[in-house]
Amino acid sequence: MEKSRTKDLIALLIAAVLLVVLIVGHVRVNQSQVFRMPEDGQLLTATVQGRNGPVAVEVAAGPTEFYRVKITSHEETEGIGTLAVDALPDTIMESQRLDFDAVSGATITSEAIRLAVAEALESGGIDPAAFGYVAKTEGTEEKGTEQASAEPAAAPVAAAGAYVPGTYTAEATGMGTVKVSVTVDESSITEVVLDTSGETPEIGGAATEELTAQVMQAQGAAIDGVSGATLTSNAVSTAVAEALAQAAAAPAEEAAPAEETAPAEEEQAAEPEAAAAATEASADAQTLTGSGMGKVGNVDVEVVADNDAIYSIAVTKHDETPGIGTIAVDQIPGAIVAAQSLKVDAITGATMMTDAIKEAVAAALASGGIDVSKFEKDIEADAEPKEKTPETLDCDVVIVGAGGAGLTAAVRASQEGVKVLVLEKMPMVGGNSNRAEGGMNAAGTKLEEELGLDDSTVENFAADTLRLGHDLADPDLVQTLAENSSDAVEWLKTVGAEFTDVHATGGCEGRKYLHQPEGGRAVGEFLVEKLSAAAEEQGIEIMLNTRATEILLDDNGCAVGVMAEDSDHIYTVNAKAVVLATGGFGSNFEMMCSYDPSLENAVTTNHSGATGDGIVMAQAIGADTVDMEQIQLHPTVIQEDGTLVSESLRSKGAIVVNTEGKRFVNDLAGRDVVSQAELKQPDGYCFIIFDQHLVDGLALAQKFIDRGYAISGDTYEELAVNMGLTDDAVQNFVNTMNTWNESVAKGIDEEFGRNNGMDDDLTTAPFYAIKIAPGIHHTMGGIKIDTNAEVINTDGNVIPGLFAAGETTGGIHGGNRVGGNAVCDFVVFGRIAGTNAAAYVKGESITAEPASKEAAPAAGAVYVPGTYTAEANGM
Ligand code: ADP
Repeated sequence: MEKSRTKDLIALLIAAVLLVVLIVGHVRVNQSQVFRMPEDGQLLTATVQGRNGPVAVEVAAGPTEFYRVKITSHEETEGIGTLAVDALPDTIMESQRLDFDAVSGATITSEAIRLAVAEALESGGIDPAAFGYVAKTEGTEEKGTEQASAEPAAAPVAAAGAYVPGTYTAEATGMGTVKVSVTVDESSITEVVLDTSGETPEIGGAATEELTAQVMQAQGAAIDGVSGATLTSNAVSTAVAEALAQAAAAPAEEAAPAEETAPAEEEQAAEPEAAAAATEASADAQTLTGSGMGKVGNVDVEVVADNDAIYSIAVTKHDETPGIGTIAVDQIPGAIVAAQSLKVDAITGATMMTDAIKEAVAAALASGGIDVSKFEKDIEADAEPKEKTPETLDCDVVIVGAGGAGLTAAVRASQEGVKVLVLEKMPMVGGNSNRAEGGMNAAGTKLEEELGLDDSTVENFAADTLRLGHDLADPDLVQTLAENSSDAVEWLKTVGAEFTDVHATGGCEGRKYLHQPEGGRAVGEFLVEKLSAAAEEQGIEIMLNTRATEILLDDNGCAVGVMAEDSDHIYTVNAKAVVLATGGFGSNFEMMCSYDPSLENAVTTNHSGATGDGIVMAQAIGADTVDMEQIQLHPTVIQEDGTLVSESLRSKGAIVVNTEGKRFVNDLAGRDVVSQAELKQPDGYCFIIFDQHLVDGLALAQKFIDRGYAISGDTYEELAVNMGLTDDAVQNFVNTMNTWNESVAKGIDEEFGRNNGMDDDLTTAPFYAIKIAPGIHHTMGGIKIDTNAEVINTDGNVIPGLFAAGETTGGIHGGNRVGGNAVCDFVVFGRIAGTNAAAYVKGESITAEPASKEAAPAAGAVYVPGTYTAEANGM
């Protein structure tokens, strides 16, 4: 009774405060709308052509001062041109100038507004030059106001008859899918329509207008691109090249399908004008095909080229699954055509795929008798050494790294209403998180309750994590991890990521914490996809290919931003809080060996961006680190390329044997135990064994077969022979399998004491083996944080404004990370870091485990006197 009356009173108080705020806000709005023209002022109007239609302005100005600038009507594109419409009246008023910088990505609209205001001034006899306006030469002025479909005078034009008139469409991947529709007459591009709705609105999306103009100007794919939107620019270039290839190839279609191209034929299809190098297309262009060897199979290309120019490149076949490899497929062809050189930079992290495409293009050129060396000019040597432009960016929270922790923190912080900017040094989001296959550990979840998993408690989960980590982890951090894990699972549902299954977690004596998405889908790519979509939906800006280099501190030692750079800029990113989510250092051998020299020749499962940047940056400003020497080996890693064979294969019944055909350890003991046991086996490698029944129930097992990693056999003998075992070992192997199947039937592994992942035996042919050995997997040490994800300095104090989450931090896993805890770590601490960074920005107090609490005022909450403003969307 007492409680509910207090609640009613609080509700009444909140309602009253809201009413007052609304009334005060209303009065203020009305006041600000009152405008009185000064005596020397005139109300002037003008209309000029914008990007899509007329732009009309109304200007109140005196001879030397703007009193008000309004755009009274326009038809500019929502989200692009409107950026300029929204921003420039304020810019003009604040600067009292007309020589402002055009809004990036909305150049045409910006120029139209500049011109309209200048014309309005002139109509009232006021000289726009007094406001810094410089009339453009006719040509440039025309460019500023022309429609994108108009033909620029200076543009290179293809030979008459080069194209079959019509509209051609193509698409390529930038941040998302970029679609182009190119309309050509016989010799030129007459209209280009770009659909970049799949791109980040503020970056790729905003560059659309500029890129459209560039394609029109270049009359082809050889565009400069828009800095800061490299991915979108390259994708536009690739797609335009492809569309033009269609335009050129159209008449030849019935004559010669792609596979049967006849390079020697004289009467080739009209050649495309897809590259700037060829202002006039030659009649000798050939359509050629070639192949290169990618990471997972052949890459085939179709190239249209002659001795002087490469007009287009299309990748016609590849076996990459979506990820960094497919980014190379989408970007490298356009980059080669634009540069007219095979020496374009590799996509970071996709060197093999980049090389495969280059190899395929070179093979195609050579097959047509074209001198490949002509297209091997050194781009760097030819180019002017590039001076990077300094640029300043402002946000509330800057998040460094767009892996699992960074994306989670970004979405959380943004949900709290602060402006978030994410910097990612790689050309794609996801980091190591993208590679997580098994699942996410969590305890006390609704799903566990539904499944009747009574042992899956927070207490057990925390105890298992501490025990398996050799009691080295910080118990408070582990408790925070366990306590917040079920809330984290619930929160993931709200961003569309739901788990449907719970499995046994390795080393936890059969206790089940491992949450998996439907169909056994790899958890990392699943979560990265959902979190990226949530980030995009919330309009969070993610700058790819942008590396943070330094944390900025103010005079009080508070983190207030970062320095960062991309290929063209040095950014000073001003923020009110910084979140480090840069992942581990499992690809930085120098750093790892400085803590554990025995790792010198190990392979790594880590993505190439895992170089410990966040740790280095944090240390540079006095942050403490913990457990740096704790570097985890994963026991089932394919040594040829560092591909990891997930624990979930063993959880579903796979076993590990040595080259003598014998088991030698509890295959599902902790990762460190299994890895150390493997290192003692003869020949330096082992095999993981599974059967068709397991493959049928686990989608990711099929992937290893598809990619050619698995050896197979219809009987145990046949498999053992194919594994290259000696005769004795073949017999051992058959015995091992039979013994194992008996153990599964009994439910007891008498030899090695395995007690989970024994639901199914391995009796369904065909049988499979993958050759494996330990590989570097997770760097468990890192930046020292407290349970609020605040970074702690070497004096034991918080560095205000600096938060960290995910693999860049230490203290959560101790001496051994439990499989499924990396994902739990990035979601739980990513949420805490995002929530607390936002709270810090808003001046709210940061309390322990804030991520799990709803933002409801506590009973008896008091307000700090003052005026607070907020906004929300109605229409
Ligand atoms: P976590 O699981 O902790 O999120 P990930 O490896 O998944 O770790 O993600 C870390 C991300 O941080 C990677 O995408 C990586 O490329 C990015 N990163 C690392 N160093 C930097 C840096 N200096 N600037 C920007 N991004 C970085």
